[in-house]
Amino acid sequence: MPNSSQDIEALCLEKGMRMTDQRRVIARVLSDATDHPDVDEVYRRSTAIDSGISIATVYRTVRLFEEAGILERHDFRDGRSRYEPVSDEHHDHLINIETGEVLEFHNDEIEKLQEEIARKLGFKLIDHRMELYGVPLDETE
Ligand SMILES: [Zn+2]
Repeated sequence: MPNSSQDIEALCLEKGMRMTDQRRVIARVLSDATDHPDVDEVYRRSTAIDSGISIATVYRTVRLFEEAGILERHDFRDGRSRYEPVSDEHHDHLINIETGEVLEFHNDEIEKLQEEIARKLGFKLIDHRMELYGVPLDETE
């Protein structure tokens, strides 16, 4: 979710991670992204800053950030993993299946309903993922 406080590099340093220049570039690209980019897109943006960065380095770095709990991976059913910085504020996603565009939303009623469902089934909800898939409404119809 777009949030300037999500400084991936700062989180990496907090966790004692060694930051190379290339890792720093990739961290910056991921911190700046608001569109849940996949690895190819992160690679494209990173090489625009430092052409020496390889796709293998992007893969490795993204996995490292993910394993450190700094980056969240999503599978939006198009066969490519997509990433966003882990956020304190929960949100869900709506995916435009025509363009792959991802919209974020938060709905208190849905959140409450999910907790209720879990409770009725004898559980305390600790996490969930919700993804809506759709096509834009045709306003001419
Ligand atoms: Zn998101």
